[in-house]
Amino acid sequence: MFARMAPIDRRQFLRAGAAGLAAGMLPLASARAEQEPARVRRYVRLGRTELEVSDMGFGGSGIRDDEDVVRHAYDRGITYFDTAEGYHGGGSEELFGRALQGVRDKVVIVTKMKADAGEDRASMMESLEGSLRRLRTDWVDVCFNHAVNDVERMKNPEWAEFLMRARQQGKLRWRGMSGHGGRLVECLDYAIDNDLVDVVLVGFNFGQDPAFHQRFTRDLDFVAIQPDLPRVLRKARQKDIGVVAMKTLRGAKLNDMRPYEVGGATFAQAAFRWVFSTGLVDSLVVTMRDRERIDEYIQASGWTRQARADDLLLAVYERDHGGSQCRYGCSACLSSCPAGVAIPDVLRTRMYARDYGDPELGREEYARQGAPAQACISCAEPTCACPFGLPVSELTRDAGLLLGRGVIPGLGRT
Ligand code: SF4
Ligand code: SF4
Repeated sequence: MFARMAPIDRRQFLRAGAAGLAAGMLPLASARAEQEPARVRRYVRLGRTELEVSDMGFGGSGIRDDEDVVRHAYDRGITYFDTAEGYHGGGSEELFGRALQGVRDKVVIVTKMKADAGEDRASMMESLEGSLRRLRTDWVDVCFNHAVNDVERMKNPEWAEFLMRARQQGKLRWRGMSGHGGRLVECLDYAIDNDLVDVVLVGFNFGQDPAFHQRFTRDLDFVAIQPDLPRVLRKARQKDIGVVAMKTLRGAKLNDMRPYEVGGATFAQAAFRWVFSTGLVDSLVVTMRDRERIDEYIQASGWTRQARADDLLLAVYERDHGGSQCRYGCSACLSSCPAGVAIPDVLRTRMYARDYGDPELGREEYARQGAPAQACISCAEPTCACPFGLPVSELTRDAGLLLGRGVIPGLGRT
């Protein structure tokens, strides 16, 4: 059995915050004092790359046409810009290319490509050159193999050869791997042990910390997903590999947290402070869509500890969303579907549409996966099961109906 959070109502939340239940953490008064002005307050060394970057980076997956938002982030001190060839069919890279013209030497731009296990170096080089054209630059600072969850992709000798040649040609500076799947730890171990990465970008949030849950549940049956993740991140840091966290909001279901956000702290800031407080990452990236969110998010820049009420905000979020949030790094349900539906991947596309409020991103990713949940729409006897109690068949069916319009399974969008 997996533990659930005990109920916390708003009155209890306020009382607990006032009493300082989270002993040893910084008070919110300090948080307020540090909230002016809204600018990045800490720049960090990204491991052996020696790149100096803002402790909070601009994630480009949720934006396609608003140059002003990118420039606003730059004006607020953000210097790390993260994109991928797959975001909006290259539209995110094009946006960065337009918005960051003239400041290329002052920012770090990283991009990602999905290099498969059997792919050759020529097609990888073609992908990189496409990214450079869209980004209007001669080089990217880090090129990540994107969303790696199969160690064979890192073992592909063509990947290492491509990286070496692209570096020699000045098209990229540093090598990276990103991931957030069930086999992330195995892939990271391989990449680190075989010196294939200078920077890693990993899904990492408070819900992946067993100690966080145990503080509230005291339930000895709780089993952490990826309990080895902190170990592998420590190993990366010992080897001076830069570590960047993503998926730090644990699903970004932000809308109903406002009633609990008192005393100058928001849930998002609490989630970011948790990441910084672990000491396991250099920086984090978060999807940025508008000025208001940027100004809210960067209030957490500069923190290296939690504020007093942070744990309670995180606990409320977990209580309210833990029953419907697919856990990063989990794949416990994969074998429960006879049709072989890649359930975690499907639920991630649904999360983009429903929780991030970005149906276009959800549809793009769903189509790229080959519309896997169409089988769920007509599944008469669902056998899929989640040990955390997620209603898997309802959620996958919802994804199929929501995201599958205009998509031919296996062929992508019509
Ligand atoms: S649906 Fe449940 S079992 Fe499946 S990946 Fe998500 S959290 Fe894990
Ligand atoms: S609803 Fe049916 S097809 Fe879809 S994941 Fe569950 S068992 Fe598989």
